[in-house]
Amino acid sequence: MKKTYEILIIGGGIFGITAAVELAKRKHKVGLINPDSIPHHLAASTDITKAVRMEYGSDKEYFKMAEEAIAGFHEWNDFFKKELYHEVGYLMLCKDKIESETQTYEKESYNNLIEAGYASNRMDSESLAKKYPVVNTSNYIDANYNPKGGYVESEKLVATLADYARSLGVEIIEGQTAKEIIVDKGQVNAVRTKEGNTYSCGHAVVAAGANTPYLLPELKPYMKSTGHPVFWLKPSDPTPFTPPNFAVFTADISNSGWYGFPYLPHLGVVKIAKHTNGIEIHPDKDDRQIRNEEVKDMREFLKMTFPSLVNAPLVFTRRCLYNDTLDGHFWIDKHPEIKGLSVSSGGSGHGLKMAPILGEMTADMIEGKTHKFSERYRWRHLTSNTLQREEARYIISGKL
Ligand SMILES: Cc1cc2nc3c(=O)[nH]c(=O)nc-3n(C[C@H](O)[C@H](O)[C@H](O)COP(=O)(O)OP(=O)(O)OC[C@H]3O[C@@H](n4cnc5c(N)ncnc54)[C@H](O)[C@@H]3O)c2cc1C
Repeated sequence: MKKTYEILIIGGGIFGITAAVELAKRKHKVGLINPDSIPHHLAASTDITKAVRMEYGSDKEYFKMAEEAIAGFHEWNDFFKKELYHEVGYLMLCKDKIESETQTYEKESYNNLIEAGYASNRMDSESLAKKYPVVNTSNYIDANYNPKGGYVESEKLVATLADYARSLGVEIIEGQTAKEIIVDKGQVNAVRTKEGNTYSCGHAVVAAGANTPYLLPELKPYMKSTGHPVFWLKPSDPTPFTPPNFAVFTADISNSGWYGFPYLPHLGVVKIAKHTNGIEIHPDKDDRQIRNEEVKDMREFLKMTFPSLVNAPLVFTRRCLYNDTLDGHFWIDKHPEIKGLSVSSGGSGHGLKMAPILGEMTADMIEGKTHKFSERYRWRHLTSNTLQREEARYIISGKL
């Protein structure tokens, strides 16, 4: 049997790696296993950009969490002396007036901003056309721009945090895939891998993203792995898609799912994605190819929203996986029956932005402490009637 770890983390995406850093800072003896290498090419956290927003509709807890996370990203930018988080702002485009019933996500988000003392940057179609000339203002007649928000280079962040974890003494073991959690008399004592190794540990944390319910089947009734399309487009003229002429945007997102990012000079692309039901997919077995009808759907969206991008070459597509909880809330808690076993997962398509606070949430849970943001993410009973609660997400029939 291989080395003994006080805490062994299964999975080096953002949930696992932030937990490793925080636990090591608290002087725990931590190991982490992950297939192939970290950042893993199929991990949800491995991406060029992820949106960072405080705009969570009427949800004040996520608003506060994101506000704290943004402060944390600034600290990381300083500490690691590199711009991982780009504060280019967050633009909510609306087809109707923000106050109208069709724009509840935007209306509630805007109200939360104003209530918290943030400035209003509302734009009608005329001022929108001046500030963001690429927007089709015959379809979008209202908007708000929040300078506090933007995107994080998530793959770069995971790689940076992995190096930092190693420097804190975390033993990161790449090329190991957890297959079985060994439990003896109700207590975890080891993890066996597909590669034939067994790592003994006092506590195992399952942070395996979309694979989590496959490693812990008792979570299958509450979680599912869903696939979501991502598109990279090469604009002929990048200037109007470059900040400050452009920002991270949502386009009537709670009724369409569409959102995207400004031009990335180092890659020469504009990334567009869709935050909706997605398709249920097995993380290891099913193909992740993007279908022609999804590309057609994306072009339709561009025609309606950014006409100058409608014929831009599509240089890359990807289907990325959410570990979706039925209510859309994260899952950070100890196993109700097995001692020394816990879960940190359930990102549900919106977890990356919380990276600066995820580590302490998971470490507090493992140490049996109550974190101010912990109650809602505890082990819970969800049913097929459970409604999805993340208000930016365009969910057909309200349920996943
Ligand atoms: C298309 C898309 C767009 C998104 N956009 C945003 C956004 O704009 N803003 C935002 O905040 N969030 C966004 N998210 C959500 C965010 O990416 C996720 O919530 C977050 O990255 C999940 O992190 P994770 O660590 O749980 O999972 P992952 O990043 O998937 O990491 C899981 C890790 O576990 C490893 N693993 C799997 N099985 C095993 C095993 N058996 N043994 C050992 N290791 C294993 C994997 O290799 C991987 O490294 C998006 C997600 C997707 C898919």
